[in-house]
Amino acid sequence: MSVLDEPLFFAGLPLQDAPRAARVTLVGAGPGDPELLTVRAERALRCASLVLYDHLVSREVLRLVPDGADLIYVGKESARHTLPQEDICALMVRLARSGRALVRLKGGDPYIFGRGGEEAQALAAAGVPFEIVPGISAAQAAAAEAGMPLTHRDHATSVVLATGHRRAGAKDAVDMDWAALARPHQTVVIYMGVSTLPTVCAQLQRHGLPADTPAALVERASQPGCRRVVGTLRTLPALARHHEVRPPALLIVGGVVALHAQLAARGTALTA
Ligand code: SAH
Repeated sequence: MSVLDEPLFFAGLPLQDAPRAARVTLVGAGPGDPELLTVRAERALRCASLVLYDHLVSREVLRLVPDGADLIYVGKESARHTLPQEDICALMVRLARSGRALVRLKGGDPYIFGRGGEEAQALAAAGVPFEIVPGISAAQAAAAEAGMPLTHRDHATSVVLATGHRRAGAKDAVDMDWAALARPHQTVVIYMGVSTLPTVCAQLQRHGLPADTPAALVERASQPGCRRVVGTLRTLPALARHHEVRPPALLIVGGVVALHAQLAARGTALTA
């Protein structure tokens, strides 16, 4: 297995001369634990000859790719963008036309954040056939691991998946419909929300959620070293700072969070 950290390495290859038809499989790699891959995802990985992968894809999942396949890292971490999204799309279209079995491997589910939708649109616009293999999203993995059934009927009639990512160019603003997120009897799951956690917790309180609403961060769900930090909207920002929670982590807010004490799969909660 060779790891090519420089995607532009492929710039000089005569890809357009290849005779086979272009095709891309956009595969959800799940939250990290390879046991949480779908059967279809595993099969696609075992047949891959070229894999473009993100930084959230675990090493254990990458090990399923056959020796001799090429792995290209196109990952993005919030502070360190390896390739702009347009370049990832362009690279994917170009490599797809090589006719090799191309897998675009994305953490969690390809259509839940992580911009898989844009990549599918780029393929559609270029006339490249593609298939989406769904994956277990971080919200599902975190719920199972931390013991927080997202729609337990005593606590929530709906679950909202939202992003806490800052708006481009905005220093502290997070672009969200706060009134909708602060509704009662609802579980709110926020992806990419570690750096904006204080803003999110403050806004949810300002828009009507009680300060003692249970709130938790689940870090590295399904992976070794998974941690859950559990408090309330008022206490969680300080707890997160104290325990130095780092991405990837999910923020979960709502009554279901309190069920962790009874239902968590393993480990102890960090509550102070
Ligand atoms: N498509 C992915 C999400 C990509 S956005 C999915 O469906 O899960 C990236 C964010 O997902 C991270 O910032 C973090 O909030 C969350 N995330 C991904 N993997 C995670 C994990 N193992 N544990 C906790 N959060 C995770």
